[in-house]
Amino acid sequence: MRNLTIIGGGPSALMLAAQIDTKKYQVTLCEKKKTVGRKFLVAGEGGLNLTYNCSIEELIRQYSPSDFMSPILRKFTNEDLINWLQLHEVSTFSGSSNRVFPDMEMKPIEVLKKITDLIAAKGIKLIRDTTWLGWDDEGYLNFDKSIDKDTDIVVYAMGGASWKVTGSDGQWSQPFKKRGIQTHLFRAANCAFEVDWNSNFITTHEGKPLKNIALTFNDFVAKGELVISKFGLEGNAIYALSQKIQDKLLTEKSTIIYLDLKPTMTVLQIKDKYKKSSRTKVTEILKKDINLDRTSIGILKHFTNKETFSDTEKLIEIIKSVPVTIKSSEELDRAISSLGGVSLSEIDLNFQLKKLPNSYVIGEMLDWYAPTGGYLLQGCFSMGFVLANHLNKLNTE
Ligand SMILES: Cc1cc2nc3c(=O)[nH]c(=O)nc-3n(C[C@H](O)[C@H](O)[C@H](O)COP(=O)(O)OP(=O)(O)OC[C@H]3O[C@@H](n4cnc5c(N)ncnc54)[C@H](O)[C@@H]3O)c2cc1C
Repeated sequence: MRNLTIIGGGPSALMLAAQIDTKKYQVTLCEKKKTVGRKFLVAGEGGLNLTYNCSIEELIRQYSPSDFMSPILRKFTNEDLINWLQLHEVSTFSGSSNRVFPDMEMKPIEVLKKITDLIAAKGIKLIRDTTWLGWDDEGYLNFDKSIDKDTDIVVYAMGGASWKVTGSDGQWSQPFKKRGIQTHLFRAANCAFEVDWNSNFITTHEGKPLKNIALTFNDFVAKGELVISKFGLEGNAIYALSQKIQDKLLTEKSTIIYLDLKPTMTVLQIKDKYKKSSRTKVTEILKKDINLDRTSIGILKHFTNKETFSDTEKLIEIIKSVPVTIKSSEELDRAISSLGGVSLSEIDLNFQLKKLPNSYVIGEMLDWYAPTGGYLLQGCFSMGFVLANHLNKLNTE
């Protein structure tokens, strides 16, 4: 029997542990924190969005690079994840937006417990409160506690670099770099972006949502919701474009996104409503005929001057394309996920580090991106499952 050490106790590691064949491997899982799955529980605070209910092709399109994620997701799809959870007594439901959640009566901690119970029942040794520091001079694993470092196979699953409080602090990148493994700089993803609001606007509209809008950045469009915050804009529509915006902000001090406040109507349809309206006050027309809410009207006023606001032609153009200048992203620690991490060129098709045979990397440690919507957890679970299947097939004699 070979020894397998898993470092990190997030969803990718837990899925791997749950699926690994313990007749072939003696498995130890080392976690820095006193408990595993802390980020998973944080994810659960806003509704534990486990995956997204759509065709496999649509699912794959959400990931970047999608050609990297495609074989992984095809081997363990969203449907497979839902069935796997069901098999382990976690029933799910698909919300109106096709996001998949655990059944209402099941709390995230109970979902986590189902998975950790499964792992415990397999006899996997869980070592908590133990941090991997890097490699010693002879290349052995180096922990802050004295534990058996001799292992045949190591799987690194230490997560990305946001929400440090959960244990995913990206400290692992230093020893990786020292070892000559290319890692890309961590940057915030699925995060808020800074907008210069005027004080009147933010006092009235802080915390207010902009529902059913569309955002355009270069040729990319994201539909969904935004929330006005003191810092700027947050919400799934801007999260979906976060990687593209971040890439632009690498070389530019600011960039412009375009907000369509009425994606369900064309310019012509809005013009027609305007023409047919019996009202004279612009704000009344916007509210009653075009059905814009107070915050959308506030946005229009914020980004136009009096002259434009009373010029019907110009105002209608702006309703469909409000230019909003973005200055920076929110700090990495507050982001839902991180860009960067181990370069995908460092691993082979089975997640094995090319420079370190018998060492594998999975989950958010790797440099891939997905928007919110359950795609992040799906990606991590798929990697854990696919790697377990690969290791289970290896000849361990
Ligand atoms: C606020 C928030 C909400 C989210 N909501 C959702 C959602 O609804 N749906 C969704 O799909 N995704 C969501 N996510 C993202 C999702 O939680 C992550 O993508 C996922 O947890 C990453 O899994 P992972 O296995 O790569 O690592 P992580 O979950 O980051 O776990 C890594 C583990 O490794 C441990 N570790 C780190 N360094 C060491 C070390 N040196 N030694 C030992 N152990 C170490 C950490 O303590 C941690 O437990 C959310 C994230 C946040 C922050």
